[in-house]
Amino acid sequence: MDRRLIIRGVGIAGAAALVAACGKKEEAAAPAPAAPAPAAPPAAAPAAPAVVTGGGAIRWRLASSFPKSLDTIFGASEVFAKQVKAMSGGKFDISVHAAGELMPAFGVVDGVQQGTIEICHTAPYYFFGKNECFALGTAIPFGLNSRQMTAWMYEGNGLKLMREFYSKFDMISFPGGNTGAQMGGWYRKEIKSIKDMKGLKMRIGGFAGKVLERLGSVPQNIPAGEIYQALEKGTIDAAEWVGPYDDQKLGFNKVAPYYYYPGWWEGGPQLDFYINQKAWDTLSAENKAIIESATAHAHVVMQARYDALNPTALKQLVGAGTKLRSFSPDVLSAAFKESMALYSEIGTTNPDWKKIYGDYAKFRADQNLWFRFTEATFDRFMQSQKL
Ligand code: CA
Repeated sequence: MDRRLIIRGVGIAGAAALVAACGKKEEAAAPAPAAPAPAAPPAAAPAAPAVVTGGGAIRWRLASSFPKSLDTIFGASEVFAKQVKAMSGGKFDISVHAAGELMPAFGVVDGVQQGTIEICHTAPYYFFGKNECFALGTAIPFGLNSRQMTAWMYEGNGLKLMREFYSKFDMISFPGGNTGAQMGGWYRKEIKSIKDMKGLKMRIGGFAGKVLERLGSVPQNIPAGEIYQALEKGTIDAAEWVGPYDDQKLGFNKVAPYYYYPGWWEGGPQLDFYINQKAWDTLSAENKAIIESATAHAHVVMQARYDALNPTALKQLVGAGTKLRSFSPDVLSAAFKESMALYSEIGTTNPDWKKIYGDYAKFRADQNLWFRFTEATFDRFMQSQKL
C-alpha cells in the first residue's frame, strides 16, 4: 500500500515515526510467546446457586477474566448485564466482578463448571491446557479474522461444535465479543529476523505460546493486570495484549519502544460467556432468549468499541515516540509453517481437535477464497486514498 496515505490518515506528530515504521515490509508477521495452560482453580468463593427471589427475580454473579480498567473487554460484561436487566424489566440481575474479585482471572472456567458462579466472561484459549480445543473458541495462529469467526460461530458449525465440546465441562457458551486483529506486541529490542525470536521471553495470550516455543521463544501466560510490571522489571522481553487502546491504557509504551504488527496469532480473537449448564437449565424460555440476545448485543458492541477507539490511541502512541514495525516475512513464514505442523500433530492425539479443527480449517479456506476478491480489494483501495 502507499505509505503516504497511511501517514495522511495518521496525521499528527507521529507521522514521521509512522513513515519510518511503515517504510518496512508490507507483510506482517511476528512471533509471540505462548501461554501455558491456565491453572489455578478458583479460590472458592461461597457457592452461589442461582438465586430466585420473589416475583420471579433472578440474581446471578458473573466473573470476568479482565480488570475493570479495560472498558473494552471488561466492558462487554457490563454491556451484557445491563441489557439483560433492561430486557427483563429489572427481574434478571447479573452482578459483574472483575478478575480477582471472586476468583483469579484463570480460575473462571473451574468456577462455572463447579457452579461456584453461574456465568463468566473470558477468552477460551486461556484454558487450552485442559484441552487444545479451547483455543478454537478464541483464536489460533493464522486462524479466522473477526468477521469470519462470527460467521463460523453463528452461521457455520462453530457454535454447535464448540457447545458439544464444552458440554464436557458442564457449561454452555455464547460469543461475547471480538477484538479484531490484534497488534503483535511490545518489544524491548527489534525483531529483525526469526533469529531474534530465539530465547525471547514473551507474555502472549493463550495457545499461541505453543507456536512460539517451536520458534525457540519462551512464552509466558500472565493476566492483563500483571503484564506491565513484568515488562518493566525485565522478567520478560516482550508482551502482547490486544491493540493500541488497551495497550496504551496498560502503559506498555512506557517500558518497551517497539510495537509490532500484525498479531498473527490473533486475527480475530473471540471472547465467550460460559454459563453453568444447571443454571442455564433452570431458566425460562423467555430468560434464555434474553441471554441469547444480550450476549449477541455485547458481541457486536465490543468489536465496535475497539474499532472506534484504536485509531486515536495509535496516533497518540506514535506521537509519543512508539516505533511501529511489521514482522518480517521470514518470521511470518516460519510461524505459519510451525502452526500448521502443530495443528496436524494435535489432530493425531486429540479426536475433539481433529473434528472441530477439520471443520474450522475448511471454513477458513472458503472464507479466504471469498474475502480475497471484493472485501480485500475494496479495503486496500480505500486505505490508499486520501481521506
Ligand atoms: Ca493478545
